[in-house]
Order: sequence, then C-alpha cells, then structure tokens
Amino acid sequence: MSRLLIIGCGGVAQVAIRKCCQNSEVFTDIMIASRTLSKCDDLKAKLEGKTASRIETARVDADNVEELKTLIRSYRPDAVLNVALPYQDLTIMDACLACGVDYIDTADYECEDTQDPQWREIYEKRCKKLGFTAYFDYSWQWAYQEKFKEAGLTAILGSGFDPGVTSVFTAYAQKHYFDEIHTIDILDCNGGDHGYPFATNFNPEINLREVSANGSYWTDGHWVETEPMEWRAQYNFDQVGEKDMYLLHHEEIESLAKNIPGVKRIRFFMTFGQSYLTHMKCLEDVGMLRTDPIMVDGKEVVPLQVLKELLPDPASLGPRTVGKTNIGCIFNGIKDGKKKSIYIYNVCDHQECYKEVESQAISYTTGVPAMIGSMMVVTGLWKKPGVFNLEEMDPDPYMEALNKFGLPWKVVENPVPVDCYKTADPSVHMD
Ligand code: NDP
Repeated sequence: MSRLLIIGCGGVAQVAIRKCCQNSEVFTDIMIASRTLSKCDDLKAKLEGKTASRIETARVDADNVEELKTLIRSYRPDAVLNVALPYQDLTIMDACLACGVDYIDTADYECEDTQDPQWREIYEKRCKKLGFTAYFDYSWQWAYQEKFKEAGLTAILGSGFDPGVTSVFTAYAQKHYFDEIHTIDILDCNGGDHGYPFATNFNPEINLREVSANGSYWTDGHWVETEPMEWRAQYNFDQVGEKDMYLLHHEEIESLAKNIPGVKRIRFFMTFGQSYLTHMKCLEDVGMLRTDPIMVDGKEVVPLQVLKELLPDPASLGPRTVGKTNIGCIFNGIKDGKKKSIYIYNVCDHQECYKEVESQAISYTTGVPAMIGSMMVVTGLWKKPGVFNLEEMDPDPYMEALNKFGLPWKVVENPVPVDCYKTADPSVHMD
C-alpha cells in the first residue's frame, strides 16, 4: 500500500502513471499534478474503472517550492516521482526535504535560463574543473546528500532508461559477471520511424540541447570533450539492423565514473538518421536552437521554445511510430583473472508499446523504469538515507521488475566491439 505523487503529465509521465495503475497492489493511491490540470484530469478519466489504484489530480507549478509543499502536505504521499522537466529537480527535492518525503526522478538538474549570471559563474568554474561543457551535471543534486541522509530520506536520481536501466545493467554486470569492469559502451539505438521529416521523441527542448552539445567520454580518470558528432560508428543491432551512431555526452557517464571502481573508459553512443542530423544542423545554423531570449516586436522570445511549439508533440508520435529500440551496454573487464566481454540490452517495439499504453517506445522505455524506481523506494527495497544513482543500489529486484513490467533484457557473451572513427576522417579510429 502506498501513495505516490507524480509531477508531470507529459509523454514519460503518462507511461509511468499507466504502469503504476497496472501495479495497484503497490500503488494503491496516486496523484497526478502539473500546471495544466485538464491534462491530468483527461488521463484520470481514461484510467478510472480500468485500475484499482485511486487517482487524484491537482494543479501545481513545480518551480514554486511553497506550492509544492502545500500539495505534499495535503496529499501526504510516501514518495514524489518527478517526471516534469530537469529544471524542476531542485525545487522538488527542496519540497520533499521540507515535508519528509522520498524523491525519485529521471534526469539530472539542468538550469532553464543558461544566461543567469549566478548559475553561469558556477557553470564556468565547473567546466574548467571537470572538463565538459554540458549544461547539466550531478553536482547540484549530489550536494543534497547530507541533507537527505540527516533527514533519513531517500533520493533516487535518474530512473529512466539511460540513465537508469543502463546504470542498473552496470551494477548487475558488476555483481554477477565481473571482478573488475574496465570499459563501458552505452548504445542507444532508436530504429523507429514516425514518418515526419523532423520530430523529437521526448521533450524537444531537452532533446535538442543534449544532441547539439559537445560530446565527451571518460578515459583514464578524466573527461575528453569532442565536437558535436565528431566520432561515429556503425553497429548491427539485434532486431533493428545496422545503424550509424555518434558519441555524445550523457549524464550517467559522470555517475558511473564515480561509482564503478577500476573503470577505465566510458562512452555513450546514440543512433541518428541523416534527415534528423541535417534538420538539426540547419536549425542550429539559423539560430533556432538558441536558449537565450531575443526580442521580436518588443517581446522576449526564446527560439528553442518557439521551435518546441512548432514541432510535433512527442506524445502524439505513438500511433505513427513503427520499428524498435535497442538500448544496452557492452562491458569489458576481468573475471577470475581472464578477459571477459558481455552485452546487456533490451529491445522494445514502438507499436507494441502503443497498443499497451498509447505511447511510443521512447516514453515507454523511460516511464516503465520511472515506475520501477518508485516501486523500489515505496516497497522499502531501495530505502536508505541519502542521494543515490541507480548503480549504487542492489540491481537484482530492479532487473526482475524489468522482465515483469515490459522491458525484458538479454545478456550476450562476446559481443561485437564498437569501432568508432572520426566522422571527418574515417581512417582515424579511437584506440
Ligand atoms: P514532456 O515535455 O512531454 O512533459 C513534461 C511535463 O512536465 C508536462 O506534463 C508539463 O506539464 C510538466 N511540467 C513542466 N514544467 C512544469 C512545472 N513548472 N510544474 C509542473 N509541471 C511541469 O517531457 P517528457 O515526458 O518527454 O520528459 C519528462 C522527463 O523525462 C524529462 O525530465 C526528460 O529529460 C526525462 N527523460 C529521461 C530519459 C531517460 O532515459 N532517463 C529519456 C527521456 C526523457 P505542464 O506544462 O502542464 O506543467
């Protein structure tokens, strides 16, 4: 029996909410809250009568800590699942601390206004100190460690697929397959086709910020930053086929580098089609990816927010997306003194997801782990005081839940390694 407050009612949240409703024994009561109450009410109307979970809804602006505290105090949840945007991570964590409630999210903190001078000063210091320039990093949320510990509360950071399941795959590989993991390659392949010339599969603002940024990887104790799409590789994915993929910066590299002892290199690759890349480059070249305000007819507008309004809503891609995703990790290391290599991955079918929860596979592969992370906390399986990334917890119950709730995984021994090369000069390969 538990009460979960879910903040957000977008693509990912809708899957998480539906999966909680399929798991009513654990989630007896849920509340859906976002700024647009009508969206929450519409989803509640769709689900009522089909689930034993009692659903309530509320309007909340999660940028406002006082509003959050009032809502949490009136609903009295056991935990808050943040599936709004990374911009709200800190305000929701503050409210959870003030009200004595556990916290789970799917993405690390990112500042909405990257021109804010106070934030910028800290950001620029961090870029110099750590050596990567992404707008997001874990320092903001890791800074809550002592506060959560002292309050006896649990915060679970990044329970989506990547980060999230990829972090649990790593903990599972570490626990059952390796004495020491030396390299981790995270491969995120979306072989889906939605039929639009250009659309993003989750929040366009967050997605385009991530993809147009510099890449980076972790090697021998430090970061190496790359130009966007500087390194490329082809990989033949099970049930999807051969795809081009590119090296990106990604948040779990930072936590895995900290939490996996002995790891020497961590890279993240994502597949992109040529049409996506060409559109993105063009939008970037004309300034449409800018996140700072410009003046139009005397009014401030942020180009990326205008673009978000023009692009298809990711939640609307479900009925038209066909194909599969294949996301997982290749690990190399040592077991019993011998070299070992395994690949753990999940394959997910866009249309199957749509039939089950009216969403495409990107929302599905994030929303299911968001529900599982919440389940780990409210059932006490992952209840310990402090702020944690998923690889710091026991992976076994989470891995079992992935099989049970729609994201079955496979372990393959001796996979084909990733051979990546410079996009501009394919004769230059990374060691
Ligand atoms: P959407 O844009 O579809 O939904 C965001 C939701 O947040 C909306 O319902 C919005 O509702 C709500 N929201 C935004 N601002 C506020 C606010 N101030 N107060 C209350 N609610 C707010 O995003 P997605 O569902 O695509 O993504 C959700 C999260 O999942 C993001 O953080 C994203 O980064 C993360 N993600 C993680 C992945 C992973 O694998 N780890 C993969 C994909 C996404 P309203 O405007 O009505 O308030």
